[in-house]
Amino acid sequence: MIKAVLFDMDGVLIDAKDWHYEALNKALDIFGMAIDRDTHLASYDGLPTRTKLNILTKSRGCPVKLHGFLNQLKQMYTMELAYARCRPVFQHRKAVNRLKDEGYKLAVCSNSIRQTIVLMMELAQLKENMDLLVSNEDVSRPKPDPEMYQKAIRYFNIDPTEALILEDNDNGVQAARASGAHVLVVGTPDDVTYERIRTAIDAASISADQR
Ligand SMILES: [Mg+2]
Repeated sequence: MIKAVLFDMDGVLIDAKDWHYEALNKALDIFGMAIDRDTHLASYDGLPTRTKLNILTKSRGCPVKLHGFLNQLKQMYTMELAYARCRPVFQHRKAVNRLKDEGYKLAVCSNSIRQTIVLMMELAQLKENMDLLVSNEDVSRPKPDPEMYQKAIRYFNIDPTEALILEDNDNGVQAARASGAHVLVVGTPDDVTYERIRTAIDAASISADQR
């Protein structure tokens, strides 16, 4: 039986894929190191900024001594874009409210830094219903490692099979599957509805009965 629903943030509850791309590029552009959209989608999407900068150092020779500054600048641009574009989405608020009323434990587990998660969840009016926020600062290994999902599962004191995780991209899905939880893969935040989550919860319960 499912007892907790764990949400990835970007691409699941927040349509922020492009924001992270734009914010990083705006910072990199100062040093003439912009990444094109296809490369970002193929090799960088869903990874923490620090990991992205490490890849840039290996592939394009981005100096390590710039990482701190680039990271700070990127986070600042991300916050700006969040204030400008992040709005509550009715179907997400409805889903989260209803799941909460039904007694499910709810968490966001994201490769973003804590400040970004808190801001985006507040702007989207989803934060008050979340029991737990896990950021890349709360773990030693970000996704695709399952550590942040394992941390949430331990926090709720449940078995991995009692959790349903919503994820949208390869790194996240890999982390979610490795945690041993049930996984609902979504294409975009538009796919995140109460009805779809309910169907996935019911399917997970049926598979548990048949075990
Ligand atoms: Mg994602």
